[in-house]
Amino acid sequence: MTIQEELKEILFETKRLISACREMGLEPPMLQKGALDFIHHKPTSKRPATPVTPSPSFGSLEALRDHIGDCHRCNLHTGRKNLVFGEGDETAKLVFVGEGPGFDEDQTGRPFVGKAGELLTRIIENGMGLTRDSVYICNVVKCRPPDNRDPNPVEIDICLPFLKAQLAIIKPDVICALGRVACQALLGSGFRITRDRGRWRTYEDIPLMPTFHPAYLLRNPAAKRPVWDDVKSIMGKLGLEVKS
Ligand code: SF4
Repeated sequence: MTIQEELKEILFETKRLISACREMGLEPPMLQKGALDFIHHKPTSKRPATPVTPSPSFGSLEALRDHIGDCHRCNLHTGRKNLVFGEGDETAKLVFVGEGPGFDEDQTGRPFVGKAGELLTRIIENGMGLTRDSVYICNVVKCRPPDNRDPNPVEIDICLPFLKAQLAIIKPDVICALGRVACQALLGSGFRITRDRGRWRTYEDIPLMPTFHPAYLLRNPAAKRPVWDDVKSIMGKLGLEVKS
């Protein structure tokens, strides 16, 4: 690892710690603009040789999946068993976006199939009266981060064009972003999940509802009530009948 790469890794971790402190309501010092530019814009040897910008030439999810291939564009490929592309209806009106695959997802190659996934499925089927097949479910990064850590900014930066391409192909009426990582990836780093959840935003002119990640609900059952409020708001936006 070069000194420049090592410095970048240190800055990533510092940025992550600063975000964590903010989430806890603390007011840590800000990273200077130069440091943020260094993290986000100066390429390193780990960057992909070929840019992965979304392309209108991806006429289908299948074509996009073929393009991604056996992806080695970021370091997350080293620990994965399966790349988890996403699943559901290519013409879905509603897309759920999570953070990244966990253990069960990595094992099966399918998104949201562990305990958090079971909860999301109950929300979709029992709460909204839809089926999993009728929506689309995917993540910001397609390969499991080791030890279920958050994907780092470089990993997100490299993989995000795939999510953007998925959304450009599906063109949903509503996006539901699950948790801080997904919300910040689509709405910017200024997003705060505890402050901003439940308020409609837009991504590329598509209404986006930010809400808590199902894994957070498993640890904090009290958060189910606000999430149910968010789900009802989504149903209203989609013209679905909202049960009281
Ligand atoms: S996380 Fe995304 S960019 Fe990284 S290896 Fe997997 S598919 Fe490729």
